[in-house]
Amino acid sequence: MSTFSERLKLLRKNKNLTQNEMAKIINSTERGYRNYEINKFTPTLDILIALANYFNVSLDYLAGLVDIKEEAIIPTGTFITVLGSSGCRYDYGNDTASYLINNKVIVDTGWNLVENILDLGLNPADFKTVLFTHFHHDHYIALPQFLFYHLNEGRSLNELTFVGPGELHMVVALAMNFLQVSRFYENAGYPKCTEIRSGENITINIDSGTKLFIEAHKSIHPVDGRYYCVTDMVTNSKIGFAGDTAYNHDEIAFFKNCDLLIHECSLGGKHTGDNLYLHSDAEEAASVAADAGVKKLALVHYPARIRTECFDSAVNKFKGEVLTPIKGDVILC
Ligand SMILES: [Zn+2]
Ligand SMILES: [Zn+2]
Repeated sequence: MSTFSERLKLLRKNKNLTQNEMAKIINSTERGYRNYEINKFTPTLDILIALANYFNVSLDYLAGLVDIKEEAIIPTGTFITVLGSSGCRYDYGNDTASYLINNKVIVDTGWNLVENILDLGLNPADFKTVLFTHFHHDHYIALPQFLFYHLNEGRSLNELTFVGPGELHMVVALAMNFLQVSRFYENAGYPKCTEIRSGENITINIDSGTKLFIEAHKSIHPVDGRYYCVTDMVTNSKIGFAGDTAYNHDEIAFFKNCDLLIHECSLGGKHTGDNLYLHSDAEEAASVAADAGVKKLALVHYPARIRTECFDSAVNKFKGEVLTPIKGDVILC
């Protein structure tokens, strides 16, 4: 059996697809497709490219020339990889609202951060920077696993930089205690925790391809939270992360002309009654997007069952592109 046949079979099984379903994806017959998996025939270059794109791996990986599952298409501009977009308790297959910027910087650590990064074929220990919107559990719960992954890989926690509201110091200390770091690890180091206040900004230099200018503003939420405007200084793209917040006018000036605004709509299409936990609905998210003149709006932080309701409500108010991304989606900015 060739490495190609083995890899093809494995990739298909990882996606839970039958040979027949896979055949349809590449416009082939089940028998034609099966011949590739049993190494009777080798696909044409067109089909190989279609397979590599579908599985998001490189041709070299598919052919067995390299063992790293590189992504076939690496966007050249600024891009957001969605790790999840669900409400507080994640939907199976879609984590709570959390993202990667250019696959380099993490925004919030939902329930399954480590697995989400592994699913992309990336190494969680290669991520050094996390931006936190606030410290409700659904936005930081995987922090201990993330730290433990670094420790397990023998990396020093000194390599890590966390940015967020002041409660960051307390939550990181709790995570370190929970992991019993001083008992089990010598010279583990400690993450650099940078508090960012409303009105402040910070520049994060990752490498020659990613240099981010991050502005913060206080959100309207039961705990101290931030929303962020992130400018990619290499491409000049601007991305707004609303985090969790009740609708408020400050958002409009703050998110002015963003290429992409990622906004919560925990309250569904349109809410009536009280707003005890201080969130937004989709109509409010859309009116911020419209009034701020953003190009694209991505709705997040709601359970899957109300996706259509949120989308329908937003497209009524905002004439730009409205997205309802889930785990694994890549948004180009
Ligand atoms: Zn939340
Ligand atoms: Zn919250």
